[in-house]
Amino acid sequence: MRIVLLGAPGSGKGTQSQRLVERIGIPQISTGDLLRAAVAGRTELGLKAKEAMDAGRLVDDSLVLGMFRERLGEPDTRRGFILDGFPRNLAQAHALARLLETLKRPLDAVVQLDVDYAELVRRISGRRTCADCGRVFNLLTSPAAAQNGPCPKTGAPHRLMQRPDDNEATVAERLRVYDEKTRPLVDFYRARGLLRVINAEGAVNEVTRRLAQAIGAPLRAPPVRPKPTLKRVAGKRAVARKHPVTTARGKSAAARTTLRAPAKKSAVRRKGAKARAKRR
Ligand SMILES: [Zn+2]
Repeated sequence: MRIVLLGAPGSGKGTQSQRLVERIGIPQISTGDLLRAAVAGRTELGLKAKEAMDAGRLVDDSLVLGMFRERLGEPDTRRGFILDGFPRNLAQAHALARLLETLKRPLDAVVQLDVDYAELVRRISGRRTCADCGRVFNLLTSPAAAQNGPCPKTGAPHRLMQRPDDNEATVAERLRVYDEKTRPLVDFYRARGLLRVINAEGAVNEVTRRLAQAIGAPLRAPPVRPKPTLKRVAGKRAVARKHPVTTARGKSAAARTTLRAPAKKSAVRRKGAKARAKRR
């Protein structure tokens, strides 16, 4: 299944992509992650990208497309992928269509996550990312217990940072650029019969459900967290039930049951074992 998620900054693309990764089992390919990996790896493309980002500019299309072309060559993308934050303009959409046509892997659906402007500004300003594990939190909607960790990478509290492009000064500009450059993609994909629009406001779990419905994907239960953190995670789930958590890996216990797709026998047995392990 090859999917593009379209939506303004703050529409929840990243969050919903990660939830789809866990629940339909295909990788997310996000411009942000590709860029951060390239910057961290100090590759040639990465250094050029960093220069642009530091200056508050968008990264050149050809750089991004180059990174995507390489990524699509990796075997985990064979069953499909979720593109998040790309394409970002018509030129990229055309280039992507050509690339996927060459590879004989055309898109199956493009989903637009629809969120009100004021809500977008509110969400972006509250967003924080853990510098160690990369998890995304929202100060406005995540309970403090979730924000404080423990971080699966360090075991210490998450180190919450505001991404440089999430500060309030750049939010309005990013939304303006989105309107000008990315909104035309809605018509582009509608004309090709690929567009689905969903209301992306409200509870994270509900949005995931709408999204899965829009692409016709059966959801499976999210994976159980690694053992060392299970106890603390279990404690957090109890909190999450009362105060829905908005994180990149949102985890309301309620969702676990409502989103569970009919599982195969072996999967049920596996899940049962995991649940038993968790109770211990
Ligand atoms: Zn962390």
